[in-house]
Amino acid sequence: MMKGMYDVIIIGGGAAGLFLAANITGKNVLLLEGTPRLGKKLLITGGGMCNLTNNKDTSSFLKHFGNKTQANFLKPALLNLTTRQTRLWFESHGLPLTERDDGKLFPSCMRAEAVVDLLKGEASRNKVEAKTNAKVISLTKDEQGETYTVHTEHEQFQAKAVVLTTGGMSYPATGSDGSGFALAKMLGHSIVSPSPALVAISVTGYPYTSIAGNSIRESLVEFFHAGDTKRYTLSTGDLLFTHDGLSGPVILNNSREIRKGDRMKVSLLPCSNRETLRDDLVELVANNPKKQLYTLLKQEGIIAHLAERLLESLSLTTQTTCANLTKEKRKDLIELLSAHPFTVSSKKGFNAAMVTAGGISLPEVDRKTLESKIHKGFYFCGEILDIDGDTGGYNLQAAFSTAKLAADAIMK
Ligand SMILES: Cc1cc2nc3c(=O)[nH]c(=O)nc-3n(C[C@H](O)[C@H](O)[C@H](O)COP(=O)(O)OP(=O)(O)OC[C@H]3O[C@@H](n4cnc5c(N)ncnc54)[C@H](O)[C@@H]3O)c2cc1C
Repeated sequence: MMKGMYDVIIIGGGAAGLFLAANITGKNVLLLEGTPRLGKKLLITGGGMCNLTNNKDTSSFLKHFGNKTQANFLKPALLNLTTRQTRLWFESHGLPLTERDDGKLFPSCMRAEAVVDLLKGEASRNKVEAKTNAKVISLTKDEQGETYTVHTEHEQFQAKAVVLTTGGMSYPATGSDGSGFALAKMLGHSIVSPSPALVAISVTGYPYTSIAGNSIRESLVEFFHAGDTKRYTLSTGDLLFTHDGLSGPVILNNSREIRKGDRMKVSLLPCSNRETLRDDLVELVANNPKKQLYTLLKQEGIIAHLAERLLESLSLTTQTTCANLTKEKRKDLIELLSAHPFTVSSKKGFNAAMVTAGGISLPEVDRKTLESKIHKGFYFCGEILDIDGDTGGYNLQAAFSTAKLAADAIMK
């Protein structure tokens, strides 16, 4: 059944769609959301606390995206709504934010729900009509090229402009199931093949299930593709042990490049230079001849279970003292602590990926307005675009900035 005519229809009520609705005024706007609830994915961001941005200035912020093309594409959106302006936007709309020591920003109440409530409230203040359980299944443009018809299962709506904010394909249970890509294709857009990004890895013969949930701060990790002796990247960051492999920022942020069969050398202690760490460990063992290795390892910050596993793997016991260590075993222990080898058995899939790499091909979109270069009045914001950022507030900020730029362009 054909329903009313709108100035703008926003398809997708996630971070980008809601931020757009919260920033568009003076237009007759309909927001269609496929699931029963707006902002479902937003609710689980940042472990339910929503790391909505960070304290980076625009040029350092843009270094945290997939490649230079993505950074270049995002620049006008980020200059139009910087991380600082985002902070001011939320605070001036009644949501105080807290900056953590690592530069990440969260609502001070630490509840993602407060972000969703605020955006919903602003959208309704702007008189945006929001419909849930309204999954869009097709999108057409009339022959004169002036209006779009948006089809849900039971209804049809028309608008002069349509904004696609349907997200990527990760965590499909939140509603972002990739159906937006099909809608874009219906109007002739091309899609860069989607793949899971910001994703954990499983490890071959993983021995650390018992310490799942524990992490190492500032681990130094070198990555090698199978068969290569030259590393393809070296990175430092927090590392998390999972039940079958590794996660944490240092893995997630490199997961775009990680492939099955890759080898990694991982420091099990905080490390900025592997040689210095090795030298420090040699000295530590030499200076503590009477001490049990087990005690020494724990003193250095290695958790008890991991210390036990490491000693066990070298056929040592918790009673072994430093003086009892042969030269060979000392070398092996230091190697494990400074460059523990792991081999990637697989990368997790879309069900566990925080974002989707790939999406609407960027050369088909005007980066200054987010309008399609193929169809006037057709816009894209958020993760549906071929952009993917690191973990740490980059992806939500990109969703907010692209939404704000599109809102400004539509209102002009
Ligand atoms: C577990 C997890 C934690 C995360 N934590 C953070 C974090 O702390 N900080 C950060 O910056 N990023 C984080 N992210 C990434 C961030 O959530 C996304 O990048 C962001 O939500 C993308 O916004 P979006 O609006 O483009 O898409 P989404 O938020 O995915 O919203 C898309 C919406 O469109 C709807 N939709 C899809 N298809 C249709 C259709 N055909 N018809 C109607 N509606 C449709 C969906 O139901 C959904 O509501 C996290 C992601 C995950 C999975």
